[in-house]
Amino acid sequence: MQIAIIGAGVIGLATAWRAAQGGAAVTLVDPAPASGASSVAAGMLTPVSELSYGEEPLLRLGLASRDRYGAFAAELAEATGLDTGYRDDGTLQVAFDADDLKVLEDLRAFQESLGIPVEALTGRECRRAEPMLAPGVRGGLLAPEDGSVDPRRLAPALLAAGERLGVRLVRRRAKGLLVERDAAAGVLLDDGTEVRADRVLLAAGPWSGDLEGLPAGTVPPVRPVKGQVIRLRTPVPFLRRTTRGLVKGSSVYLVPRADGEIVIGATQEELGFDTRVTAGGLWELLRDARELLPGLTELEFAEVTAGLRPGSPDNAPLMGPTGLPGLYLGTGHFRNGILLAPVSADALAAMLLDGPVPEVAAPFSPARFAPGPQ
Ligand code: FAD
Repeated sequence: MQIAIIGAGVIGLATAWRAAQGGAAVTLVDPAPASGASSVAAGMLTPVSELSYGEEPLLRLGLASRDRYGAFAAELAEATGLDTGYRDDGTLQVAFDADDLKVLEDLRAFQESLGIPVEALTGRECRRAEPMLAPGVRGGLLAPEDGSVDPRRLAPALLAAGERLGVRLVRRRAKGLLVERDAAAGVLLDDGTEVRADRVLLAAGPWSGDLEGLPAGTVPPVRPVKGQVIRLRTPVPFLRRTTRGLVKGSSVYLVPRADGEIVIGATQEELGFDTRVTAGGLWELLRDARELLPGLTELEFAEVTAGLRPGSPDNAPLMGPTGLPGLYLGTGHFRNGILLAPVSADALAAMLLDGPVPEVAAPFSPARFAPGPQ
């Protein structure tokens, strides 16, 4: 089986690795691997603290992926010798004022109604868990099993693991889809050459709809949703675990890494393919982060970046076959692509190789957006 994958973000990279493990000859096409959202993302693995009403199937997918992460990271380390910065030390979600605390209490009731373990903490208990928190923090929730990974370590590890199994990386832009006898036949590159394949996976993040030659009804309904993040550095431990905060109704999070990096994120902006970093975006992040953790103003500034989340109409990924035989989608992972990489790769590789697909992935078929009866 020859498989061509367009896009080497975490979704394309992880699927390439799994498909190669399944015996496929895989070609990854990307002019700049992991240059999209996968290099900007904070890497939170937080299905529980990110839970939203009406997104229960996405929660189940997120929990399934989070629960595979430890083994996934260990397998990658074993295959490549590379560390992904995976941590499973929980996520603390804190409330700045009484209204924020009410929101967290409602969230806790919702989480408990779904049988998800979370621990409610008083303000004092929050500060015991994270001593740098501001004295005024009102209370919080601890999701003990959520964690984080460093996407900038994860992507190179996935690429190395794939290459060890023979995945071929073509550093060119995919210009169009090759279609022959009403089926996908490969990828047309921007230099006019072709990558022939039995099956093509479109995993180009928010750019997935841009390919020439996509038949009507197969163009994925994805759009870019901009996010700005700040990276700071600290020589001494500042935070023990991922800490998310609600500050007067506005959300902010901080993700610490073992090497001293702290990622503060993230804005959520509907501005098309704009990746400018703005004064207003950074100000909002720093303002809210400082309310929660006043001492962070002493930390060294390292970097600001903006990336584009591949958003879909229902905030959930599109994974599976399209109306064109041989063409598959693996996109629309929006805020959760790093979290969802292990389960998505398992599901997509199974679909591409006609293997058993994890049941938890069934609700995410692109068919839910296809025109006509389903
Ligand atoms: P991308 O990572 O965007 O990769 C797409 C790839 O396609 C790129 O490498 C690009 O070069 C390539 N490409 C584009 N066009 C073409 C073409 N024509 N031919 C060939 N290649 C092409 N998720 C989490 O789970 N946890 C988080 O904490 C988190 N934080 C985030 C914070 C921010 C600020 C942002 C922006 C995102 C965050 N995300 C997070 C979301 C996550 O980053 C995305 O869901 C994930 O990266 C999507 O991966 P992808 O492989 O689909 O797309």
